[in-house]
Amino acid sequence: MTGCCSWNDVFQYETDKIIRIQSKTYGTIKWFFHVVLFSYIGELRRCAAEVWLCCSFLWHVEDSLTMGACSQTPLRCQYMSVKVLLIENSWIGFLKNIFIVCIVVYNCFALVSDKRYQRKEPVISSVHSKIKGIAEVKREIMENGQKKVVWNVFDMADYTFPLQGNSFFVMTNFLKTEGQEQGLCPEYPTRRTLCSSDRGCKKGWLGPLSKGIQTGRCIDYNKKQKTCEVFAWCPVEAAEKAPEPALLVSAENFTVLIKNNIDFPGHNYTTRNILPDLNSTCTFHKTRDPQCPIFRLGDIFQETGDNFSEMAIQGGIMGIEIYWDCNLDRWFHHCRPKYSFRRLDDKTAKESLYPGYNFRFAKYYKENNTEKRTLIKAYGIRFDILVFGTGGKFDIIQLIVYIGSTLSYFGLATVFVDMLINTYSSKYCRSHVYPWCKCCQFCAVNEYYYKKKYESIVEPTQTLKYVSFVDEPYIRMVNERLLGRSLQDVKGEKVQRSQLDFSDLSRLPLSLHDPPPIPGQPEEIQLLGEEARLKSRDCPDWCQCGSCLPSQLPENQRRLEELCCRKKLGACITTSELFKDLVLSRRALQFLLQYQEPLLVLDADSANSRLRHCAYRSYTTWRFGSQDLADFAILPSCCRWRIRREFPKSEGQYSGFKSPY
Ligand SMILES: [Zn+2]
Ligand SMILES: [Zn+2]
Repeated sequence: MTGCCSWNDVFQYETDKIIRIQSKTYGTIKWFFHVVLFSYIGELRRCAAEVWLCCSFLWHVEDSLTMGACSQTPLRCQYMSVKVLLIENSWIGFLKNIFIVCIVVYNCFALVSDKRYQRKEPVISSVHSKIKGIAEVKREIMENGQKKVVWNVFDMADYTFPLQGNSFFVMTNFLKTEGQEQGLCPEYPTRRTLCSSDRGCKKGWLGPLSKGIQTGRCIDYNKKQKTCEVFAWCPVEAAEKAPEPALLVSAENFTVLIKNNIDFPGHNYTTRNILPDLNSTCTFHKTRDPQCPIFRLGDIFQETGDNFSEMAIQGGIMGIEIYWDCNLDRWFHHCRPKYSFRRLDDKTAKESLYPGYNFRFAKYYKENNTEKRTLIKAYGIRFDILVFGTGGKFDIIQLIVYIGSTLSYFGLATVFVDMLINTYSSKYCRSHVYPWCKCCQFCAVNEYYYKKKYESIVEPTQTLKYVSFVDEPYIRMVNERLLGRSLQDVKGEKVQRSQLDFSDLSRLPLSLHDPPPIPGQPEEIQLLGEEARLKSRDCPDWCQCGSCLPSQLPENQRRLEELCCRKKLGACITTSELFKDLVLSRRALQFLLQYQEPLLVLDADSANSRLRHCAYRSYTTWRFGSQDLADFAILPSCCRWRIRREFPKSEGQYSGFKSPY
């Protein structure tokens, strides 16, 4: 089945092919972005790196354009795409699909539960409150040196005051100073105001805490104490503590009616918290009557876990929160308030410097043509009504935006599976986990996917070169300066020889038609190394095959050509049959050159030079396999000189190896 809906398609995993560039420049840029912009703006980092790469690439292309002038088409309009690898592994495919199903389920859940398909708008509101209740107050006052109990009745006008904003104040406790008139009198005795003589007082002094302007005299406050005389409202207010228990402790039975009108102008919707069918005798209760807008003050304190009679002494601030979470869609219409309460002032009233909430006000009157006043320091509870919430209505644009934003989550599946492939293809797993953990063994297949997925590219620096010895199965990468050592002696880094692709062999220009078998003579494969030759005297000391010659290059470049075809003593590669067939055969090289340029005429002047270079390339392609390595391959001295002997240069010096980049 090749259709798009077969079951096999479900169990496949696609991933991008990534080319890892081992370049210090880009590595530094990547880390710079990592550190500076943090990893969560990963997209930005990738973008910047891509723009950078793209720019430098275009630059390069333009260079070659001006030099080669091969095309007039502007190359700026390019499209870059990622190569996708299709891994047909049912376990990985299953994992990917499980992941995708989970992401879809989560996104749908978030869409419905958070109503992400709605356009939301904050609430606009107005609040009005009405307090009701009567309190009886029992007060002890001193009259003519005698204690006297006075009973008062307090109604709304006595204990509530208009405040700005969505707030109202209920007085719960007070201190009264009656019969004050402007004049001279002693300050109330405190540590600050006590004095023993006029020298302790200063004329005209105005302390921030004093009740009036000092006259500079020290006079008797009572029989025992002397204080500074002040010009003030006399007698001055006594610095007493708030009465305990609070005088209006019965205020907890007061009720408050809160009227709240709200508006969502964007949705053209208006409503209020008081419905027409409201029972005017109800009282709010969290479970029994959660929609009643009439609150008993004591109940509010019970909800927050505070003690009213305790808080009534010093006063405080209480928040009444009205939360509107409105769904204005026709099919799920719901728009009712939710009430909650929160104490807003400092709960540790006893420890703070100015605990509670209080302020002073005065009632003025005239007695015998003298202006007098009654000063009242009022303690009480300020109720702040906080209205907040949103109204949401279905909006197609919001839905599209949400769907768009969830698409990025699907990338998580790729990230996760890629991480698994990377983890299970590590050398650590191969050497430490798989031999011990039998159930992990099948994960070794990830190494294959990894190899297919990631291609490593070494930065083509000036010092990069590859070396192949005929008696070693691998290739050595040398990426360092030689610093006076022969290339033969540099250890380098082992690189796997690329897998032999036999289909490439058919392209080799071998005229390998089998020679007729010679009867009676068994076929022999010539083995190098069998006939170890003795080193001749004139060959350099780094040579192991006996055929190398000293370099002709200037002294500073000479070390690069000091390379033999072998690491250990033995026969030279130039003595092999294959070397003759692949590298030296004039017919084969001509075939190769004409394969590329069919109408090539090799005249006597250029023939040797072209054949020589073709022979160099034949050798590197044969010994190094991949073109990536062959570009940086160094020929052993013996091969180089053998080829040069075959196709000599008529005049001048041979140039030697040059890095292609
Ligand atoms: Zn040699
Ligand atoms: Zn050799």
